[in-house]
Amino acid sequence: MSDYSCPKCQSENTQKLSVLYAAGSSSSSQTTVGVGLIGRHGAVGVGSSSANSQSALAQQLAPPQPQKVEVGCLLAIGLFMAIACGIGTQSPAVGWGIAILVVVAAIAVSRPPAIYNKNVLPGLRDEWNKKFVCLRCGEVFKKSS
Ligand SMILES: [Zn+2]
Repeated sequence: MSDYSCPKCQSENTQKLSVLYAAGSSSSSQTTVGVGLIGRHGAVGVGSSSANSQSALAQQLAPPQPQKVEVGCLLAIGLFMAIACGIGTQSPAVGWGIAILVVVAAIAVSRPPAIYNKNVLPGLRDEWNKKFVCLRCGEVFKKSS
């Protein structure tokens, strides 16, 4: 039995998640693409006849993504509120006050994702890099090679 065989069904028809993901994302065009991966145990057919299932596969196998903060969006809302309030109250100072508050809030909410991306994400990526998927039963398992 291979070291890379599936712990569930003992199939040796397994592939690394990262390899599958790369194959899936590179073939997400409209054309019908069959990705042939040549492994130790022969050719392994990955993918199917439609672009949708390709991207669905890629999505399912996707690595952990960094958290994003829509700072630009918050700033736009702040600016809009500032203008709206400035017009409503005839007092630009109130508008600017709100705009500054929103900018401060935007900076505040952008901090936790930054910490996550720096401290947590690399570990999750490492874990993901060790994961294999069984192409027979779909079991995802980890190999600590
Ligand atoms: Zn299996």
